Amino acid sequence: AVPVALVAGLSRAARFGVLIKGGRPLEALARVKTLILDKTGTLTDGRPGIISIETANGFSEDDVLRFAASLDQVSKHPIAQAILAAAAEAGQRLAVPQSSAETPGEGVNGVIDGRKVCVGGADFVARQIGSDPAPDSARSAGSVLVAVSVDGRLAGRILMADALRPGTAGFLKTARSLGVERILLATGDRQAVAAAVTEGLDLDAVRSELTPDQKVLLVLTERKNGAVLMVGDGVNDAPALAAADVGVAMGARGAAASAEAADVVLLVDHLDRLLPGLEIARKSVAIAM
Ligand code: ADP
Ligand code: MG
Repeated sequence: AVPVALVAGLSRAARFGVLIKGGRPLEALARVKTLILDKTGTLTDGRPGIISIETANGFSEDDVLRFAASLDQVSKHPIAQAILAAAAEAGQRLAVPQSSAETPGEGVNGVIDGRKVCVGGADFVARQIGSDPAPDSARSAGSVLVAVSVDGRLAGRILMADALRPGTAGFLKTARSLGVERILLATGDRQAVAAAVTEGLDLDAVRSELTPDQKVLLVLTERKNGAVLMVGDGVNDAPALAAADVGVAMGARGAAASAEAADVVLLVDHLDRLLPGLEIARKSVAIAM
């Protein structure tokens, strides 16, 4: 049976929009030593605006956005959602993909209007076109880059700005005051973007260009030093959430996959909501012991 103090803790946390799935995750939450944060959609707002669209091989900006958005209709990735929003704002009529296959955290391949389209990060699209879609990437340092290829040739790049959530520095400070000893950023994005976004933040390490599997490895490695809390969103973070002592899904618009894999779901789309969760866990576990 779950001790009364823990039950009280669970329901108190739920009132803050922190859904803790039982006494075991609540106890694990009280033991957390290391906090691993995903970037896009977790540390950042995940609703990036388009800065610019660069075109190649005779494609227009409209083509690039339309191919990207049409294919990204199948994706729940925050970047995909942002591309869809931009296409809607531009009044574009999207095509229904004739086929599609998503590689979570990397991008989507598919057929749009009978043409082979690929949308995703630079490395992902590089595998389709056989060359780096952003060789002059110094220019785009600090902005999220989405590349688009059509029939094996680069069609263009979409540069997006993804801002830190307001209050992130304060969040990190409070997390440390609640007993978190180590805080890491883990992202599938490029190193330059991760560095720009985290500049000035009190993080112990920043790990970039990680596949979903490498995020799992990072979680398992960090677990050797104590309980790990992993916060993520979307399909690609589900395996890392499942590998952590406590997996937290940003729930409000997160993909169902991450919410299912998680022990804790933040019903309100704010990282700050984790703090009452941590505090309540520590207090109620102390009382129950
Ligand atoms: P994070 O780990 O910080 O949440 P992700 O690994 O989810 O970042 O995404 C890294 C990069 O992969 C994005 O910046 C984007 O370039 C690309 N990407 C992943 N999925 C998609 C998609 N469905 N559409 C477009 N780009 C994508
Ligand atoms: Mg993410």
